Amino acid sequence: MTRETPLNRLQSAKRIVVKVGSALIAESGSVRQTWLNHLAADIAQRRQADQEVILVSSGAIALGRNKLGSERPRKLEEKQAAAALGQPLLMAALTQAFAPQNISVAQTLLTLEDTENRRRWLNARATMETLLGAGAVPVINENDSVATDEIRYGDNDRLAARVAQMMSADVLVLLSDIDGLYTADPRHNEAAEHLAVIHDLTTEHDAMASGSNAQADLGSGGMTTKLTAARIAQSAGCSTVITLGTENRPLTALLAGGRATWILSTLTPDTAREIWLKGHLTPEGSISVDAGAATALIGGASLLPVGVTTIQGEFGRGAAVAIKAPDGRIIAKGISAYSSLDIARIAGFQSDQIEKELGFRGRPAVVHRNDLVMER
Ligand code: GLU
Repeated sequence: MTRETPLNRLQSAKRIVVKVGSALIAESGSVRQTWLNHLAADIAQRRQADQEVILVSSGAIALGRNKLGSERPRKLEEKQAAAALGQPLLMAALTQAFAPQNISVAQTLLTLEDTENRRRWLNARATMETLLGAGAVPVINENDSVATDEIRYGDNDRLAARVAQMMSADVLVLLSDIDGLYTADPRHNEAAEHLAVIHDLTTEHDAMASGSNAQADLGSGGMTTKLTAARIAQSAGCSTVITLGTENRPLTALLAGGRATWILSTLTPDTAREIWLKGHLTPEGSISVDAGAATALIGGASLLPVGVTTIQGEFGRGAAVAIKAPDGRIIAKGISAYSSLDIARIAGFQSDQIEKELGFRGRPAVVHRNDLVMER
């Protein structure tokens, strides 16, 4: 019998989010191109193993600040301007790193709203799914040049966790300049012990992270935000691993048993999503479907417009809705990809007629399978 080890989670993951911090990307304002080339080779290898990888990359501010003539931008608008200058440099470096692997990189800049607001979440997720389907590596950063303090993730650890949640990733890899969480700062305390596996994150772990053990590279919050990110991921059924990213080929090193701290989730992304949907869905209206659609839904399909008969209530895109069988029983709840007005216009039509009816090319499903939870 094979015993499940944390590494198995990485080996068997279908979807992995890898987050790299500014200190790994840039040194004295210049790109660490060799390191990036190695990271690209590592990611290419994961893809050959049939795993999808999303890269969350910092470094825009670190690469842009020289161009701004400011050593360390402090004011918000300086940081935003530095990010605007550095983001294209970051993408150019990544494009170059992935070119020998024949992999295209796709820039996706997110603001907090994109992952917190259901309506926008639907868009960001669909874009990312499409990119992954096309074989590209989505490269995500915060849209720093427009995000102001009140509406920022602020650090890419948290952003990466939100992305992992939104994309139902199995593992979140946080590449750091330390190989995980210690009971004390290992650089100053010989008795510091490394924690290899954490099942339940407690305030004790937070204390370890925020004490002398905290380290800050440009723009990031050190170990504390890594644990915050791990908590978000954990509740989304995603396990987090914090490991050393400074050496070349960090994923290879991790897979070869390199030292790391794993924060494991007991849920799978599917069950976590179901729990989340159940807890958060207060229907704003309902959609009645025909017998064929009801059977298809029970069998695991999405709700297509062709199966819709009537709509009750008025709701917008991204609203929670109840789905009713022909006998009036609620058989499912979900998030609607269309407003009630638009559904009324496409009800009974095939998905390929949506564009003709609405004048825009919408999603094929009224409620996508991933946004649906069956009533039991
Ligand atoms: N988004 C910032 C950048 O690209 C970095 C934020 C962080 O380091 O966590 O420079």
